[in-house]
Amino acid sequence: MSNPSNNKTHMDAYWMPFTANRQFKQTPRLLKSAKGMFYTSDDDRQILDGTAGLWCCNAGHSRSEITQAVAQQIETLDYAPSFQLGHPIAFELANRLVSHAPDGINKVFFTNSGSESVDTALKIALAYHRIRGEASRTRFVGREKGYHGVGFGGISVGGLVNNRKMFGPLLPGTDHLPHTLRIDLNAFSRGLPKHGADLAQRLEDIVALHDASTIAAVIVEPLQGSAGVVLPAEGYLQTLRDICDKYGMLLIFDEVITGFGRVGNCFASQEFGVTPDIITTAKGLSNGAVPMGAVFVSEKIEQTFMTGPEEMIEFFHGYTYSGHPVACAAALASLGIYERDKLFSKAHQLGQYFEDSAHALAALEHVRDIRNYGLVAAIDLESREGKPGERGYEVFTECFRRGLLVRVTGDIIALSPPLIIEKSHIDQLFGTLSEVIATCK
Ligand code: PMP
Repeated sequence: MSNPSNNKTHMDAYWMPFTANRQFKQTPRLLKSAKGMFYTSDDDRQILDGTAGLWCCNAGHSRSEITQAVAQQIETLDYAPSFQLGHPIAFELANRLVSHAPDGINKVFFTNSGSESVDTALKIALAYHRIRGEASRTRFVGREKGYHGVGFGGISVGGLVNNRKMFGPLLPGTDHLPHTLRIDLNAFSRGLPKHGADLAQRLEDIVALHDASTIAAVIVEPLQGSAGVVLPAEGYLQTLRDICDKYGMLLIFDEVITGFGRVGNCFASQEFGVTPDIITTAKGLSNGAVPMGAVFVSEKIEQTFMTGPEEMIEFFHGYTYSGHPVACAAALASLGIYERDKLFSKAHQLGQYFEDSAHALAALEHVRDIRNYGLVAAIDLESREGKPGERGYEVFTECFRRGLLVRVTGDIIALSPPLIIEKSHIDQLFGTLSEVIATCK
């Protein structure tokens, strides 16, 4: 029997994530296909992808190598349980991934998303301290403006108010470092800003307040993406590392955006020369083609789990789809492209051109800051009086109308194109964006 209340128009039934649903459905934007650097919209327009989807399609879209690997994997082994059983491709992928990781990071736990990677990392940190007999270490330190996905752990350590305010009281025992956006001191700086490393010292205040014996880990994005490309000042991450070492707290880098080549090395940890104890990843891991995440952990943590008391040796955590064979196949094929086409160094090769092109927009009216590193940048626009977000949204919709996909948060336009980008695409991207900003008075 059909349910009369189900007779909805073609857009009604889908509850879209992180979208103003009512507004969207009045003027929908739909993407029906993609290839390389471009999407095709449902009205057959070519849209240059300025954001690698959602920071994830680092090798560009609909790569035939990935398609073939996925199809073949489904034919060969579509699914296998990963509890008490294994399948070879997950082991192969973990080894390949570790070969790209910073020295000393040698174990990989598979998840299905960035949010799951974050929650997994937090649980690893808690369990690590318990196994070592320090069960009092249960607190976490995140950072204002941090985005760590939407699990309860992730929104607790995260620092974006909209993602937290409806869901309290959240995980008890979290503190937040101040964010590192200092437009007053660092506006229009290129690469890592000079001022603000001292903000890392605030971790000492948090330790002084709670005592290190209660703190399990500190989690930060080495470069905050979702907050609008907020970069760490030179020396900031190293100071966090030093303070964590001093007090036996673990340091977690959330590299869901920065992992897999965004800033010029496989990981930002390598690019910025600071090695954390745990790295969370997703997105570029499988080029966005199949959902997958991975948590990388250091030898120190691995050894603790492997040599701990017998009753604690099992990590009571995992997902039905951890190390899903089809996701593993997609990730291996993605790594194959990244390695063959040397995409992890693309941000070094084109970074200067990208940076110069971004900063050429500095002279435009209403541009209050430009931030960039590697192949990621933000154009930070002044808000209209009493109407925060209005100008940004207008720039976003007008760019889309003119064939360019950008990402907008408030009045910040974020750019993170696929790493296969060429100079001509960079010209098109900033050419369109500059025209649009000039028209959005
Ligand atoms: N961490 C960071 C740093 C992210 O940028 C994101 C997603 N943008 C996540 C976690 C969450 O990833 P997912 O949406 O795959 O759960």
